[in-house]
Amino acid sequence: MIIVCETKATEAQINVIEQKIREAGLQVHRSDGVEYTILGVVGDRNRLDINALALMPGVRDVVPVSTPYKLASRDFHPEDTVVNVGESVQVGGSDVVVMAGPCAVETAEQIETSAAFAARCGARILRGGAFKPRSSPYSYQGLGVEALKLLRQAGDRHGLAVVTEVMTIDQIAVVSEYADLLQVGARNMQNYPFLTALGQAGKPVLLKRGMAATIQELLMSAEYILTAGNPDIILCERGIRTFETATRNTLDLSAVPVVKHLSHLPMIVDPSHGVGTRRFVAPMARAAVAAGADGIMVEIHPDPDKALSDGPQSLTFAEFEALMNRCRIIATTIGRRFGRAK
Ligand code: PEP
Ligand code: MN
Repeated sequence: MIIVCETKATEAQINVIEQKIREAGLQVHRSDGVEYTILGVVGDRNRLDINALALMPGVRDVVPVSTPYKLASRDFHPEDTVVNVGESVQVGGSDVVVMAGPCAVETAEQIETSAAFAARCGARILRGGAFKPRSSPYSYQGLGVEALKLLRQAGDRHGLAVVTEVMTIDQIAVVSEYADLLQVGARNMQNYPFLTALGQAGKPVLLKRGMAATIQELLMSAEYILTAGNPDIILCERGIRTFETATRNTLDLSAVPVVKHLSHLPMIVDPSHGVGTRRFVAPMARAAVAAGADGIMVEIHPDPDKALSDGPQSLTFAEFEALMNRCRIIATTIGRRFGRAK
């Protein structure tokens, strides 16, 4: 349920409404929009006298929200949410933000050259796995904390914010020490105690869609983080499992307009894991920008054939540069801004 307050509602009136809800044992989340203040009420509705609530001074409307997610819903927060990442990057505003880097951090030189090139092409956020969720226990698992340090140094050197995956509750503290944005991988999207812990992380979260998750399930996972206290969530479409085998996954680009209709949260697209093959990454990245994504996440590598993970889907630097130039044209054509090449 949400409570839409009168435009002229006073702070004192809003406080009384909030107090009434809390006294009934429900949670209240406040969203101050351009036009209205909206109170999202979470908990057992039967504990509240809705008619009495509707008559309280300052209340304009009491609206039931039928979706199983409330705080992630556009009903609760009509304006787009803009998530600040690091000191200067905003995701969900007018910029289409590019996150680029290798699948995994391998060496100081590999992440340094990747960061330098990504920054030169106009990317704003450096990616690179430190703790890798590999399907096989025998595949490269990442350099752990050493990778976090290398990633942070390379990001700082080139003015890039940093995103990397965190896989367990235990890792949240150390990853938060180095990263500006905490990535939840597809395999962890429905790890609910983990999501709840990320609600207290104090850092924005990049929540990737599970490979067998519906859009509604993605939004419910976001709800876990929101209701645990973290409003800064960026959603990511990265492909889902279907009967199609020609690509690694099936990149569901329709998720972009659907999520933007249902939710206020920003949405980016990862075409690299979506298609799994280098030659298909650029067309889908361009399509993602055209579909209205707030950003793209692309794997690049100085020498993809020697990459320790996901080489076949990693773009060469030249391919990435060409992609950036094309995406810039598409973004500006649809009225969005795009990082300038240096
Ligand atoms: C990744 O981005 O490094 C990754 C492992 O992606 P996903 O969780 O989408 O498979
Ligand atoms: Mn990868």
